[in-house]
Amino acid sequence: MTGSFDPIKCLLVDDLPENLVALEALLKSDGLECHKASSGEEALELLLVHDYALALLDVQMPGMDGFELAELMRGSERSRHVPIIFVTAGSGDTARRFRGYEAGAVDFIQKPIEPDILRSKANVFFELYNQRRQIAKQRDSLAAMGLELQAADAQKNRFLAVLAHELRNPIMALVAGLRLLERREGTDAVPEIRSAMNRSLSHMTRLVEDLLDISRIEQGKISLRHEELLLQDVIGFAIETVQPIIDSAGHRLHLALPDDPVRLRGDHARVTQIVGNLISNAARYTPNGGDIRVSLRSEDRWAKIEIADNGIGIAPEQQGRIFDIFAQVAPDGRMNQEGLGIGLALVKQLVELHGGRILLTRSAPGEGSSFEVWLPLA
Ligand code: ADP
Repeated sequence: MTGSFDPIKCLLVDDLPENLVALEALLKSDGLECHKASSGEEALELLLVHDYALALLDVQMPGMDGFELAELMRGSERSRHVPIIFVTAGSGDTARRFRGYEAGAVDFIQKPIEPDILRSKANVFFELYNQRRQIAKQRDSLAAMGLELQAADAQKNRFLAVLAHELRNPIMALVAGLRLLERREGTDAVPEIRSAMNRSLSHMTRLVEDLLDISRIEQGKISLRHEELLLQDVIGFAIETVQPIIDSAGHRLHLALPDDPVRLRGDHARVTQIVGNLISNAARYTPNGGDIRVSLRSEDRWAKIEIADNGIGIAPEQQGRIFDIFAQVAPDGRMNQEGLGIGLALVKQLVELHGGRILLTRSAPGEGSSFEVWLPLA
């Protein structure tokens, strides 16, 4: 009757205990919970605590009778909408007496009670209650989805702002470089201007390539070229690509590779990109003169590549979202304007495309971070 919901509750009110027991026995079904009250006062107390799908009220009770109880129920916000079935002694007059209070769902059933009639009347209200609960649940999940969409939209807008900023810097550097070249043509300054322009160009190219990769992966359009790789070689190659960043920051690189070859099947360029990206992050998020450790081990059927630094670290509350796309987090929780926040998202997706996993195993502000990449061996 209730699907994944809590049981439906029904309130039975009658001054005679044997009637309460009989009503409960008649209605008994899975997912239904009957609460019994032997007076109007007792019923009102229960109504303060529970949400009822239906109240079955005996009309003739000593003290507060069924109609008086119904009137009090209608007067309270909590119980106003609880449907009521009056159990009457069988005179049509009693039914008319309640006309004035017919604000909500009300029905009558006469004694002696016909079990089928009672069950079918009660079931209508239980069904309605269930539908209302389902609608409320759908409304809540739609509202939650709306909030998620709003957050995603805001994040995308922030990302676009950072992207524009990130692209404008190298463009301005290229424009300035061109002007300088015009003025300094034929002088000794030309090679240095050219290499500065090249750096801007490769920064911009990397950004655009990362963006394209992310969108290719999201559309399922990336295909890996699987070949046999020697991980020692791949790591060496990745280090070469980021050596300039390491050198310019004066970092020391400590490399620990096993003597035995560690082989796996994967895409050479992509695995290089994974390792290169993590080392470049380690270099960028470590103050000058830091220590970067890269190690490789094989454990069971896995290759484990660890990249550790003693840099600025990541605040605990940010650690959960650094692999999310567009997440730029600074250790103090502010947006980091230095990067686009797509590098780690891309790395994670590339690792997973290889059947592997990436973990941030240790990070603390001011103490540095360690990342582990696990890739299945050939
Ligand atoms: P980007 O570096 O372009 O911002 P990433 O996706 O590579 O994007 O990294 C996301 C964020 O995670 C970074 O902005 C940075 O705050 C944090 N981060 C990544 N690697 C490290 C690291 N080794 N040390 C400290 N913070 C890091």
